[in-house]
Amino acid sequence: MMTTLPPVRGKLIKDASLAPYTWFRVGGSADWLFLPEDETDLAGFLKTLDPAIPVTVLGVGSNVIVRDGGIAGVVVRLMGKYWGSVEASEDGFLTARPGALDVSVAKAAARAGITGLEFLSGIPGSLGGATRTNAGCYGQELRDVLVGLEGYLRDGTHVAYRGPGRPGNLPEASFSYRHTDLPNDLIVTKLTLEGSGSGNPEKILAEIESLQNRRADTQPIKEKTSGSTFANPDPPGTPDQRSAWKLIDAAGCRGLKVGGAQVSPKHCNFLINRGDATAADLEALGELVRAQVLATQGVNLRWEVRRIGRIKPPLPPIDA
Ligand SMILES: Cc1cc2nc3c(=O)[nH]c(=O)nc-3n(C[C@H](O)[C@H](O)[C@H](O)COP(=O)(O)OP(=O)(O)OC[C@H]3O[C@@H](n4cnc5c(N)ncnc54)[C@H](O)[C@@H]3O)c2cc1C
Repeated sequence: MMTTLPPVRGKLIKDASLAPYTWFRVGGSADWLFLPEDETDLAGFLKTLDPAIPVTVLGVGSNVIVRDGGIAGVVVRLMGKYWGSVEASEDGFLTARPGALDVSVAKAAARAGITGLEFLSGIPGSLGGATRTNAGCYGQELRDVLVGLEGYLRDGTHVAYRGPGRPGNLPEASFSYRHTDLPNDLIVTKLTLEGSGSGNPEKILAEIESLQNRRADTQPIKEKTSGSTFANPDPPGTPDQRSAWKLIDAAGCRGLKVGGAQVSPKHCNFLINRGDATAADLEALGELVRAQVLATQGVNLRWEVRRIGRIKPPLPPIDA
């Protein structure tokens, strides 16, 4: 059956391979990839799109495994100049679009002399992804700096939320460790963030550089990876917090391989694509790690990486 999609000003690409848009570089194609020109383009498309067609939003793919069978319906990516904009104001606030890389936001804040957003430089994703995952590091999370956000639901309805603990009449966005209770179908289109004070731009930029160097020393950031595969069993601040990597190490999984996928020898909560991995290899390896951690450490690890899309059916047997 021919599917007719609403007219758009941005780009609509049929059968678009998604692997190049993910850090793991694996996965099948989107039935349609939509790159909206701006907010009005996105909203108009969502309002008129057949409600039966699913819509999935992707950031820069640093926290996802797109399965080998690809993604049904429309995948939206908010990339380019419009979607990556960040503006800092003199009173310590930043207004940004969700396609802005977290590191760009940290650096824009630094250049404006705003402190308190340096941690974002440690997260290789976009602000949209950071919102959905309540991304964080070095003791801070997105929710700590979020003043408010706007976006659209699947049917094109515009919605707005205030950040946790922020004043106002809007509904409050609720976050927990690497999770938000915002509607599943929400596509974030605009955010306001606030730093914690002011400082010397050069010093803040130097702090960002040192955080990034620290990361490069301890994490396989140049690999095809997706960061922490499993959430720590205990949220930050828990006394004697158990960490996923220690459990994986204790279970003997460091360096473990399935097909082209491997548990990183450098940081064993990271899975890596050694070059020819499929999404199925990565998922099977993750499940093997979970099983070994459960069997030997008694802990049921929860996937932090989001696995999305269709499993590719196995090829039919060849007749003899
Ligand atoms: C080397 C490495 C290190 C990492 N270190 C950290 C770390 O220290 N801390 C941490 O928290 N994470 C870390 N990550 C994971 C990842 O960078 C974060 O989860 C990041 O926030 C994901 O952003 P993204 O743009 O890549 O989102 P994607 O991976 O593309 O998507 C993630 C989720 O966000 C949703 N999403 C994306 N854009 C939007 C939008 N506009 N509106 C609504 N939902 C949206 C997607 O639908 C999906 O559910 C690391 C990853 C790597 C590869």
